[in-house]
Amino acid sequence: MASTREAELHAPLEWDTPLYRTAVAQFDQAVPHAGIHPDIAERLRYPERAFIVSCPVRLDDGRRVVFPGYRVQHSSVLGPTKGGVRYDAEVSLGECAALAVWMTWKCALLRLPYGGAKGGVRCNPRAMSQAELERVTRRYTSELLPIIGPQEDIPAPDMATNEQTMAWMMDTYSMQRGFAVPEVVTGKPISIGGSVFRHEATGAGVVMTIARACERLDWKLSEQRCVVQGFGNVGGIAAQELVDRGATVIAVSDVSGGVYDPAGLDIPSMSAYAKEHGSLEGWATGSRVSNEELLELECDILVLAAREDQVTSANAHLLQCKLIAEGANGPTSLEADAILRERGIPILPDILTNAGGVTVSYFEWVQDLGRLFWGRDEIRAKLAEKMNDAFDRVWEISHERDIPMRTAALVTGIRDVGAALEARGLYP
Ligand code: GLU
Repeated sequence: MASTREAELHAPLEWDTPLYRTAVAQFDQAVPHAGIHPDIAERLRYPERAFIVSCPVRLDDGRRVVFPGYRVQHSSVLGPTKGGVRYDAEVSLGECAALAVWMTWKCALLRLPYGGAKGGVRCNPRAMSQAELERVTRRYTSELLPIIGPQEDIPAPDMATNEQTMAWMMDTYSMQRGFAVPEVVTGKPISIGGSVFRHEATGAGVVMTIARACERLDWKLSEQRCVVQGFGNVGGIAAQELVDRGATVIAVSDVSGGVYDPAGLDIPSMSAYAKEHGSLEGWATGSRVSNEELLELECDILVLAAREDQVTSANAHLLQCKLIAEGANGPTSLEADAILRERGIPILPDILTNAGGVTVSYFEWVQDLGRLFWGRDEIRAKLAEKMNDAFDRVWEISHERDIPMRTAALVTGIRDVGAALEARGLYP
């Protein structure tokens, strides 16, 4: 009897998937350096709350289908939970849980008064019309009403969601409340309380981090040859910012594959093309490479801005870059981390590098709550200040303790969340 009970207690939990295990394994690598009590560490290995919904939606052809939706809130110890909503065929409870954990460390690292959350709907957004996406969004938002709110949990864009998605979420929530509640989501259109520079913030933050790293490494950013995987809201903007700072972008990729030109790509024209055609499919200049080949191109800086699990034990030894910048969340597997460290290729980790998005989301929320809006230059300057401050803390810890920048970034986040949890104590 006792052994059955014991086994039940240790049965895998619902979110226990490879990606979640990666998030926990990274946490475990950082905990010894964070100086937190083992009981506090144990609590932080679990999300506070995981919400599963099903969203019945009428398609344009009249059929009714049900889409599974999720929202995981990892930690509310520092404030409301915060994180994106993604629409993707691979969305699952485990994926949302892992991404929510990373959001907690990211917010703490940037000293934002939030904990982490992440949500999404399992669907194929590229095969859906705008009207269908609107109905999915409104139904998903309705299902989340009990757990979201400006002081509870504040969604934002993530993969395949955008300003329009946030406008539908804000409208659905506001109609239920009976008045406009812009501060319930961030990443909204500027016309309904969105912030200037939020759209560019993640990609711009990626390049701010790269620029800071170049300074420390004594490299000239303008002399770097860069490859960017992903050409959406993160990769597309990052590529443009790199070019604006004089760097050469020699390859980019999106769902249609990669484009490579060792002489440098015309990023503004490619962005305009991708906007018009939905992807780079059919783009005529440069040579076409597959997404796998793109990662293995010889370059100085490789920006991973597509999705999780791109650099793994299968290709880490084939990369030919000198520095990796993670614009996406979780693009490097644990095994790849070890291989790259062995090979002396430093990684600017996701929770630092892509934190520009959530940081300007925070500025958006503060502006909405105060009903007072700031200008573009002011926001860009505030973002640079926060990103540089976080970078410097990570760099210092990494060098002081001779640990990878990922572990150092996690240590600073975990330490602050752990201290807050310790101070608040255990309820009841
Ligand atoms: N989805 C983005 C991220 O992963 C932004 C989240 C937010 O702005 O709340 O950081």
